[in-house]
Amino acid sequence: MPIPIQKTFTYTVTEEETHFLQIGMRVAVSFGKSKIYSALVLNIHQSKPTLYEAKEIHQILDEAPIVNEQQLQHWQWISDYYMCSLGDVYRAALPSAFLLESETIIFKNDHFSNDDLLNDDEFLIFEALQHQSQLTLHQVGAILGKKKIMPTVNELIKKSAITIKEEIYEQYKPKLVKYVRLHADYTSDDALEKLVKELSRAKKQREAVLTFFQLLPLNKPIKAKSLEKSAAISSSILKSLVDKNIFEFYHIQTDRIQFKGAVNSLKTLNKFQEKAFSEIKETFTKKDVTLLHGITSSGKTEVYTKLIQEVLKQGRQVLFLLPEIALTTQIITRLQYYFGTQISVFHSKYSMNERVEVWNNLIENKTKTQIILGARSSIFLPFSDLGLIIVDEEHETSYKQFEPSPRYNARDAAIVLAKIHKAKILLGSATPSLESYFNSQQDKYGFVELNRRHGNVLLPKIELIDAKEKHRKKEMKGHFSDRLIQLIQEALDQKEQVILFQNRRGFSPVVECTTCSTSPQCPNCDVSLTYHKFKHELRCHYCSYQRAMPNNCDACGSNSIDHKGVGTEQIEVELKELFPNYTVGRMDLDTTRGKHGYQKIIGAFEAREIDVLVGTQMLSKGLDFNNVSLVGVINADSMLNFPDFRAHERAYQMMVQVSGRAGRNKKQGNVAIQTFNPYHQILQQVATTNYVEMYKEQLQERWQYKYPPYYRFIKITLKHRDYNKVDNGINWLAKALQNSFGEYVLGPSAPAVARIRNQYIKNIVIKIPPKQSLVGTKRQLQKIKNTFEAVSMFRPIRFIIDVDAY
Ligand code: ADP
Ligand code: ZN
Ligand code: ZN
Repeated sequence: MPIPIQKTFTYTVTEEETHFLQIGMRVAVSFGKSKIYSALVLNIHQSKPTLYEAKEIHQILDEAPIVNEQQLQHWQWISDYYMCSLGDVYRAALPSAFLLESETIIFKNDHFSNDDLLNDDEFLIFEALQHQSQLTLHQVGAILGKKKIMPTVNELIKKSAITIKEEIYEQYKPKLVKYVRLHADYTSDDALEKLVKELSRAKKQREAVLTFFQLLPLNKPIKAKSLEKSAAISSSILKSLVDKNIFEFYHIQTDRIQFKGAVNSLKTLNKFQEKAFSEIKETFTKKDVTLLHGITSSGKTEVYTKLIQEVLKQGRQVLFLLPEIALTTQIITRLQYYFGTQISVFHSKYSMNERVEVWNNLIENKTKTQIILGARSSIFLPFSDLGLIIVDEEHETSYKQFEPSPRYNARDAAIVLAKIHKAKILLGSATPSLESYFNSQQDKYGFVELNRRHGNVLLPKIELIDAKEKHRKKEMKGHFSDRLIQLIQEALDQKEQVILFQNRRGFSPVVECTTCSTSPQCPNCDVSLTYHKFKHELRCHYCSYQRAMPNNCDACGSNSIDHKGVGTEQIEVELKELFPNYTVGRMDLDTTRGKHGYQKIIGAFEAREIDVLVGTQMLSKGLDFNNVSLVGVINADSMLNFPDFRAHERAYQMMVQVSGRAGRNKKQGNVAIQTFNPYHQILQQVATTNYVEMYKEQLQERWQYKYPPYYRFIKITLKHRDYNKVDNGINWLAKALQNSFGEYVLGPSAPAVARIRNQYIKNIVIKIPPKQSLVGTKRQLQKIKNTFEAVSMFRPIRFIIDVDAY
């Protein structure tokens, strides 16, 4: 059942049904009070349950299994390892269209017009939806006057006539912007003269050409739309100039996107990539997992494509995992350029119908799904013969799912998935996680390095700017040191672009009364509200609560409310004042919220419409811009001071990754990091890109303080609206756990934000020493949990287990 209960249940089937039913098919069953679920067949057997009377199934929902044996094996592992129910995994794994329940609500798809595709029953439902905006499946049964409605509903979904309740996302299509350039016939010096003469009688066309030459010295690609606007001409005038072969239209990135069947041959690997490639294959003869530690811009993607090609030749499937797909249109287009129609993309922002389609295509083993490019949830897909898994940017924490259960790490679950398929798995990163690097040094994983940037471009020059010194000497303008301003100016003078990194969104994250030091708090969460300048309001980043920015302090009434700290928005404002003649863009959670938010900003930056891009950590993720020569970090200290044992490792990863965006193509780039602690060891390691030193030092600390990768972690969280309930519960639990695990129980403690959405939160962490059995520990923990839940006072408390918590 798709529910968080550890048990599986037995239902009866008729003899006729047994001939048809197979493991991995769905059946509609009732559970509890008249609720209908889509359950999955795990086993077909002849032993009656002893504790309850088995009910009959309602009907079989599938013609053939939709889940295969390898998946079930993998899900079972996830359920055991992450201590969740198999039902939780089942629910997370299947596109929601496969999990219809009696109360599921269906809607008409407004774009569907092909109603002659529908049979009578299907049409009846479709028609009902013209009058009534939504129907529950229960109502569908009433309309059709029968119980077996699933085949009809499934057909309607398959034909895209209806959708079911969930957020509908637009189909993902990278949008192309049209640009104009001069036709090759007119690129000589006397072109302008010749043209103007030719067009002497076509006034509008001449205006277009003259305006074009005015825009040209800006040295930026000229958008068709902006030319039309500046010259005040219509698109048909522009088109007539294209027809006359005076102008031509083009698209930026056309070479990356044109994949209409045409597949391009792979780039020739340089000799370092070639060496890495053969070393990876060599390690694969002995090991199933290999870590590729390749510096930024070394061309890891090119090495991946070579490996993919070989696996495709054997007719086996490839899974390419990416941390957050919304950010990675660049990689999608790069891979499509080579593998064209053999790729499908899968992630949770896709519409339900698209996800169902990928699932079905995989079951039918269509060519389209030879390569799946996806975010973490794609590990659940029905692969039948994986040959290779690539985990790109394997250090990224977004591979870990926090909420809801299953709280899995997709990288680790992918390693198990590879094992099940007897496939190989490559973890790639410029800044590997300590865990993976440790495993490679322990010879558990193969290990390959790629230390040269493609084209022998040097890694950027990294400069630490002492902010304390700059403040003392009054060499700061707002949050910018004179040195950083100088570097930005130099880059802009060269017509190069700049990325500025600020690890916070919003304007001034916290406001504070200078009289009584009170900060406005969220009424639902124990956290200060954040100031957003654009709407002049205060917002909670945990629950989205918002209110207008007050003029007076809530506590003392004084009107001296001041901003503390810096966010991206404030940096943007200051930049606009410092560099009024340049375009400044911002990329953070607030500006990328829309449907194509990321692509818009990334596209505008690629097209050089933005000169300076300010952003949060989103900027650090694998983006490949070729005209960026300077990366600035406004304030490195907030990253270093974060209270988490992984803070230093992450600060290193973030800064090296964001630095890696500088000078990728032609010449060496610059990186400037402003900090109050220029002698901090992590900053020194960033400045010299000395991963190994960072690794050794951090590892030493992890050993000393008993942290991963030496000790494992299980985090237990209790949540409830009533503070006393949580407090009693956690104290009981702490005692019980200490009896079993002694000194290895940490807490109870309240997290930094101890109340979210009116739920109080308390944590306990269990550390598992290297020699202690993981399975035994979990078994004991499960026992304690069962006892806890048997106490009626504790029953309403939410009990969350997070294995290998981050
Ligand atoms: P990484 O993923 O290691 O940061 P990329 O794969 O993005 O590096 O490569 C950086 C840039 O260099 C890309 O624009 C890529 O197209 C280019 N590049 C890398 N290797 C080659 C090659 N062998 N031939 C041509 N271009 C290459
Ligand atoms: Zn006050
Ligand atoms: Zn809140």
